[in-house]
Amino acid sequence: MSHDIIKEAKRCYQCKSPKCRNACPIATDIPGFIHDFLEGNIEDAGKKIFENNPLSIICSMVCPHENQCEGSCIRGIKEDPVRISSIENYISSYFLNRTSPESPKLNKGRIAVIGSGPAGLTAAFYLVSKGYRITLFEAQDRIGGFLRYGIPEFRLSKSILDQIAARLTALGVKIRPNTLIGPVITIDTLFDDGYDAVFIATGVWRPNVLRIKGESLGHVHYAIDYLRSPQAYQLGNRVCVIGGGNSAMDVARTALRNGARDVQILYRRDRESMPARDTEVELARIDGVKFQFFTSPVEILDDGIRCVKNHLVNGNLEVIPDSEFMLPADAVIIAASQGPRKNIVSTTEGIEINDRGLLITDRGGMTTREGVFASGDVVTGAKNVVEAVKMARDVAESISEYVEKKRAKIDE
Ligand SMILES: Cc1cc2nc3c(=O)[nH]c(=O)nc-3n(C[C@H](O)[C@H](O)[C@H](O)COP(=O)(O)OP(=O)(O)OC[C@H]3O[C@@H](n4cnc5c(N)ncnc54)[C@H](O)[C@@H]3O)c2cc1C
Repeated sequence: MSHDIIKEAKRCYQCKSPKCRNACPIATDIPGFIHDFLEGNIEDAGKKIFENNPLSIICSMVCPHENQCEGSCIRGIKEDPVRISSIENYISSYFLNRTSPESPKLNKGRIAVIGSGPAGLTAAFYLVSKGYRITLFEAQDRIGGFLRYGIPEFRLSKSILDQIAARLTALGVKIRPNTLIGPVITIDTLFDDGYDAVFIATGVWRPNVLRIKGESLGHVHYAIDYLRSPQAYQLGNRVCVIGGGNSAMDVARTALRNGARDVQILYRRDRESMPARDTEVELARIDGVKFQFFTSPVEILDDGIRCVKNHLVNGNLEVIPDSEFMLPADAVIIAASQGPRKNIVSTTEGIEINDRGLLITDRGGMTTREGVFASGDVVTGAKNVVEAVKMARDVAESISEYVEKKRAKIDE
């Protein structure tokens, strides 16, 4: 493994104007960390990566590299691209395991971070390192958001999240698990208690419904509910998953690993139109998942799904007349993405949302209420880890500027 990493690192051309870096949403200095690594400065390489992206170890495992750094590597034109993700993973894992953070002096102000997914974790790292007292509020019992309760263990080991939690605690971040902000503690409570700013990173945790008959039946579930604790479900042998995104692939592969014998994915268009990563679709196929393309559910019944077949007519999706058929299923799981919940906006005045329920923010990430900032999926809608990290990093900078100005005014 380590030998392969060195071989891969040596394949990097050290381009002067690196396309890999330009294609990385968070502009990771790829040639820079590969250079440090080959020079024997793995700790410097790790520090460089971590300071730019505290969740680099996670990004090295779950980013769609084929569309980003690796997809842009010059080597990839004629041969395989450099396996940047594996090198980044090796260095990031070394850095997390071998280094302990120095505790900063926490004397700059108090900030509440709500939600401990990628956006909340990133903001907590940045702001505590700058000297702010951070309380990280999390509705679930453990930190991580969809990293823990969405992406399955076989793709992302949850022990990494425990390491991240330990690092945050060592830096002085106070983590309050099992605390849903909104119903009991509100944004107003936080300001009353002396927080200088609030950062909302609550993600999108309300499953989208299909609006077909049968969605409330006992054998029908939503993807994010199922993925939170698959062992709590008795799905039976035949499972149908409705949807074509990464969550649908995760559900199907998880169901197979938890005893289902026949798992089918229903998708209304063709394979090429699926929003899931090609790699994820391919892995699902290799795991044994079967696909029903150009298929739409019409009604969920006790013994399966009433479906119709579609086809394209002048580029438009149309139902094929008389194409109705029954797909037998013991359980049906709907993976049709998610929208935001309203625990905070329904208990706070002045925070405006758009027509999708997402928080409206200005360029610096401030919501329509002074001192309340937001980023991640709750602002953009369901996206991905690296974008949540990038946005949270930028917004953390604005929060710091805001609090500094606010405190300077008070001191005047
Ligand atoms: C099944 C699945 C697979 C995915 N696979 C990938 C992948 O392979 N690669 C990739 O890049 N992205 C993937 N994503 C998307 C990625 O996980 C999200 O884009 C990312 O987690 C969003 O980060 P976030 O911090 O905005 O929100 P989240 O990760 O959703 O975290 C929000 C956190 O806020 C907490 N919370 C919510 N409301 C409150 C409240 N009122 N009070 C306190 N806490 C609250 C939640 O419990 C949660 O912990 C996947 C998503 C899913 C669902």
